[in-house]
Amino acid sequence: MMEVVAALPANPLLIILFAVYGLIIGSFLNVVIVRLPIQLEAQWQRESHDHLQLDTHHLDNQTPLTIVSPRSHCPQCQTTLTFGQNIPIVSFILLRGRCGHCEAPISLQYPSIELLTASVTVIALLQFGMSLTLVYALLFSYALILLLAIDYRHQLLPDYITIPLLWMGLLVNLQGHFSPLESAVLGAATGYASLWAVFWLFKLVTGREGMGYGDFKFLAALGAWLGWQMLPLVVVVASVSALFVSIIAILLGLTTRSQPIAFGPFLAGAGYAIFYWSTSQI
Ligand SMILES: [Zn+2]
Repeated sequence: MMEVVAALPANPLLIILFAVYGLIIGSFLNVVIVRLPIQLEAQWQRESHDHLQLDTHHLDNQTPLTIVSPRSHCPQCQTTLTFGQNIPIVSFILLRGRCGHCEAPISLQYPSIELLTASVTVIALLQFGMSLTLVYALLFSYALILLLAIDYRHQLLPDYITIPLLWMGLLVNLQGHFSPLESAVLGAATGYASLWAVFWLFKLVTGREGMGYGDFKFLAALGAWLGWQMLPLVVVVASVSALFVSIIAILLGLTTRSQPIAFGPFLAGAGYAIFYWSTSQI
């Protein structure tokens, strides 16, 4: 990896190319962030109806929503976006953050996720250069963005993302790309077990649930990518930032003490920062 870092591609054209590529991926991630939770909810509704042997007739009439269909549209007036209205960042600026049809404000989520994705894409390029490691680092970074945004919006870390992320981390580390395989396997196991233990301790002491099973799986996935040695640091950084943000939010009156905040975004942020910090040391 030393040679890769030494041969940093400072080529500005390549950086611009990756930034644009990142914006396009970001606009795809936006679709997943909005639609995956809706799809999951529809699926759970159908399954629970099946279990309870309730009539599912009214569910059959719903138009199925997938990642690719229907095409992107305004959630307010349902008008399908034209190609020109669907260009990452550019359209948002040209339309001044409003739907071209009904003037409904466009959620800030769209440009934020696009810019964030473009940034992590360029950072990965600068750190790993043109290599197979870069591809893995990008997949890892994109998965974290999905988990961060979906958990922030819905307090949900879908198995559809956490479980493949865990397996991918183990597979990538078969060749020790980011951590020796042994550390990765131990990381996956201890990641899950440690938060599980904290969860039960917290529940026994306070009678409340401090986090969800999604958090255990997410930390297991981070352990598979980073190795078990990094997990204490991930948990400390995530917890301290969660505490810090909660206190600020309570002081500003944005939330109350009883309102739970999603832990996933902090795990994602801490996992991301420590991933890049630890791989820059190699
Ligand atoms: Zn509209």
